[in-house]
Amino acid sequence: MRQFAVVGSGPAGFYTAEALEKAYGGQARIDILDRFPVPYGLIRFGVAPDHQSLKAVAKRYDKVAESAGVDFIGNVTIGRDISVSELLDFYDAVILATGAPHDRKLGIPGEDLPGVVGSAEFVGWYNGHPDFADLDPPLGGTHAAVIGAGNVALDCARILSKTRHEFEGSDIVGHALEALDQSAIRTVTILGRRGPHQVAMTPKELGELGHLEAAVPVIEPADFPPQEADEALEPGLRKSVTLLRGFADLEATKAKRIVFDFFAKPVAIEGDGKAERIVVERTMLDESGAARGTGETYAVPASLVVSAIGYASSPIADVPFEGGKFVNDRGRIAERLYAVGWARRGPTGTIGTNRPDGYEVADQVAASMPPGSPSDRAGAEGLKRLLDQRGVMPTDYDDWRKIEQTETGQARPGSPREKFVRVEDWLRTLGR
Ligand SMILES: Cc1cc2nc3c(=O)[nH]c(=O)nc-3n(C[C@H](O)[C@H](O)[C@H](O)COP(=O)(O)OP(=O)(O)OC[C@H]3O[C@@H](n4cnc5c(N)ncnc54)[C@H](O)[C@@H]3O)c2cc1C
Repeated sequence: MRQFAVVGSGPAGFYTAEALEKAYGGQARIDILDRFPVPYGLIRFGVAPDHQSLKAVAKRYDKVAESAGVDFIGNVTIGRDISVSELLDFYDAVILATGAPHDRKLGIPGEDLPGVVGSAEFVGWYNGHPDFADLDPPLGGTHAAVIGAGNVALDCARILSKTRHEFEGSDIVGHALEALDQSAIRTVTILGRRGPHQVAMTPKELGELGHLEAAVPVIEPADFPPQEADEALEPGLRKSVTLLRGFADLEATKAKRIVFDFFAKPVAIEGDGKAERIVVERTMLDESGAARGTGETYAVPASLVVSAIGYASSPIADVPFEGGKFVNDRGRIAERLYAVGWARRGPTGTIGTNRPDGYEVADQVAASMPPGSPSDRAGAEGLKRLLDQRGVMPTDYDDWRKIEQTETGQARPGSPREKFVRVEDWLRTLGR
């Protein structure tokens, strides 16, 4: 019986476990490890709380966790509680699916001022990530800005603009809902360095902005190239641009505005001890399609600045790491050590993009140690013995279900599901 450890219980980790199970057909034990007692990675902590239909993909992962050859081992941080080389002693192969949890830095003066937050922090705050429960983003000013031209920027702008009523049926955490309900923000400016033809925003997410209860999207018609130019765009992007063109015709009659400021490159964040404005340089596209500064600058007021310009992985001791991800060749890092998902490719792609990664790596593992070949590794037994010696208390899948049932059971009628936002609360639910 082969023994495999998948580190990380986000989409990439679950797809890999599913693929290994299929490849080995009952002749392997697969342990999915995570630093938290709650699984699913960014499905729980990243995907927007008002996108419940997307979060439902976790039901598919539940089936994997419930299958006979797979176990979930939570509350274990690789690189802190146990090293990768120790894991390799216990398992035939170790697959890192640790994602890319850190915000890329803006690299401009003023980015460390209070009021400037990364999207991982802001999204984590409203999704109940324990590391960001105390973020307390400043919502007392009338203006906020989101830097970035992708779906995460849209998520942040939409969450800042919704009414309490619009969060019904979501699983936004209570502390964020209360704070957003009291928010004074009336204008959210989305800053993109390039133009409408270069956005990485998808039609579904853009379309939602046209139907908000209290907010309306605003765009300068002059930012668009001639309409004929849209024909050369690939269909998805063309749809997005059509939606953006539609926004340019809307009248700003609602209380809040989401302003798209294109060709706008942030060069500094300024304020008296806290963020008050972003200094922005007007750009134009050069021949290669890159944004080039024109030298013209102006200020965009913002007492909350959310930078949504991308993510980076965390290095783990003794694992080669470069450019925000683990160094790998088609997922292979070294003998018996692999990476999948955002830890392998960097922070791009949707949930489904992680599936082929998992299957490709499972194929490689199965080719190097064919199903049926013997193993003398101790697997979870050895791992748990070592963790016990170190005073680390792992949790399992039943523990997660208990946490989930407690969270669901606490929901008040008409309110979002109460998610616990502290590791202590999760562990207390389990009597630890
Ligand atoms: C804000 C946001 C919104 C998104 N919205 C959508 C969307 O609407 N639709 C869509 O298709 N995609 C969306 N995505 C993309 C999607 O979430 C990713 O493609 C996917 O989550 C990447 O999967 P992953 O398994 O590589 O990483 P993750 O989901 O980040 O999972 C990594 C896991 O590894 C664990 N881990 C990390 N380090 C360690 C360690 N040292 N020891 C143990 N465990 C560890 C983490 O706790 C986590 O559970 C969104 C992404 C973000 C950031």
